[in-house]
Amino acid sequence: EKKEHVALYQMHQEAQKIYSYYLNTKLGLEAKIYLLNRHFTDELIKEFQIGYAPIDPVLHTAFTKLEYSEIDMVKSGLVIESNNHFDRFNDRIMFPLFNQQGQVVGFSGRIYKPTQTDSKYMNSPESDIFIKGQTLYHYHQCREAVKKAGFVYLLEGFMDVIAMYKAGIENTVAIMGTALTKGHIQALRRLTNHIYLCLDGDHAGQVAMSKAARELEEAGFKVQIIILPDGHDPDEIYEEHGQSGLEEALRKTMKPIEFLMDFEYQLVDSLNYDDRKNYLEKMCFEITQIKDDIDRDYYMHVLSQKSGFSYDIIQQRVAGMKPRAE
Ligand code: ATP
Ligand code: MN
Ligand code: MN
Ligand code: MN
Repeated sequence: EKKEHVALYQMHQEAQKIYSYYLNTKLGLEAKIYLLNRHFTDELIKEFQIGYAPIDPVLHTAFTKLEYSEIDMVKSGLVIESNNHFDRFNDRIMFPLFNQQGQVVGFSGRIYKPTQTDSKYMNSPESDIFIKGQTLYHYHQCREAVKKAGFVYLLEGFMDVIAMYKAGIENTVAIMGTALTKGHIQALRRLTNHIYLCLDGDHAGQVAMSKAARELEEAGFKVQIIILPDGHDPDEIYEEHGQSGLEEALRKTMKPIEFLMDFEYQLVDSLNYDDRKNYLEKMCFEITQIKDDIDRDYYMHVLSQKSGFSYDIIQQRVAGMKPRAE
């Protein structure tokens, strides 16, 4: 922790307290009701330190009183400079984002009224203390649970982390989007080598999973895939089917190769020969990455059945390909 960053950390800590305060005032009432409708309890709000940013520039006012410089305020990302200075976050439900040491370094703010038409989430910009590609939601709180379970659920949104928490599952982290970075992978490495990848069940989530699954395996992780039904995310499963429904959905795991074979196959135009051949090449390459001989042989048979190409040609192809360098 560099000395020149002390003010930035302090401002974030201050901001978190101020936002928490406003959630329990009249100004935050509608935001609070939104949270209650999504089955947030006071305990959950406290656990995840959720707050509310009112319309007025409360941070700028507070920071001025505390004698922070406007340069530092702008550096923090919490205050925006234009003709005048004002708060970045207005009229949003605020979720603090923590660094790997557990310090607040940024926020994500959610709209909560149908009349709010700008983007659903707004995040802090990157700063000297907030690097998005190294931030995993719930990272510093999940350690013990990950150790106990022996793996971590890698999720898309922080709402999903909170939904899992409601269901008593705490070995979770969220990417906060679909872009898994090198920095995320490094952080995960320090946590566990076993990952249950469970991004949203919609198309964007599946595309991201096919990419992330490859990258994580390449990085040496043991990976399992969970495909949630009906295009849902864990939070939606919890809301619709409760704890037992979520637990059941999480039990259906598959290997990355099984997921990739199915996922990529959906994208194939079965009447187009080149498309089918391209699929075959891609899957042969994925099979080449499998270390266990029996598994490799098994999936060559599966691929043959799925693609209509002969087992022999698949075997030949796989034998001629090299696994990714490690
Ligand atoms: P909710 O249930 O409240 O709609 P979600 O977690 O399902 O939230 P998704 O749309 O699935 O939201 O997005 C997953 C994650 O991606 C969010 O947690 C958020 O961090 C990030 N995200 C989504 N939309 C935006 C956006 N417009 N700007 C920045 N980040 C976003
Ligand atoms: Mn999504
Ligand atoms: Mn989602
Ligand atoms: Mn959701």
